[in-house]
Amino acid sequence: MYCGDNLGTDIDHFEPISRAPLRTFDWPNHLLACSFCNSNQKRGIFPCNSKGERLLIDPTAEDPRDHLRLVLRTGEYRHLTAKGEATIQIFGLNRADLVRARAGAFHTRRAVLCHAQTLLSEDRKDDAAWCLEALAEEPHASVLHAMLRSVDMPGAVVVLGADVVAALRIRRSLIS
Ligand SMILES: [Zn+2]
Repeated sequence: MYCGDNLGTDIDHFEPISRAPLRTFDWPNHLLACSFCNSNQKRGIFPCNSKGERLLIDPTAEDPRDHLRLVLRTGEYRHLTAKGEATIQIFGLNRADLVRARAGAFHTRRAVLCHAQTLLSEDRKDDAAWCLEALAEEPHASVLHAMLRSVDMPGAVVVLGADVVAALRIRRSLIS
């Protein structure tokens, strides 16, 4: 998925077949995408720099976190590299509906994590585990990943809240 929506409907040729016809049946070149990302955003665009090097992040070969940073409170992506900048632009990763959805996801994930922690304190471990596993199936998984990564950073309590930091540490221990 490019945008993080879980409704993949299209198979995108990451490197367009107009540019690389020999990759038409190359398995790693077939990526699941929603129809909006495929047909309205990326289309046949495949930007390269002046050396001819690809400027889009290839999610089958690279970690997007090396190129993008998600600002949890606003739901916006910031670029760390030229690849990150081009990827945000071509896929429209900061389009208004996605930014709003990620910001909303941050708040609802915090609430679910706190609820799961309450369930654990009541010794309702099965209910808590169900809540935590359901989080992993939600769209915009990058929000939860960014929350998990930020737990040990300075200021985590300010950004996430002390109750959420405690809940994330429990979740991390359950899934590791
Ligand atoms: Zn999409």
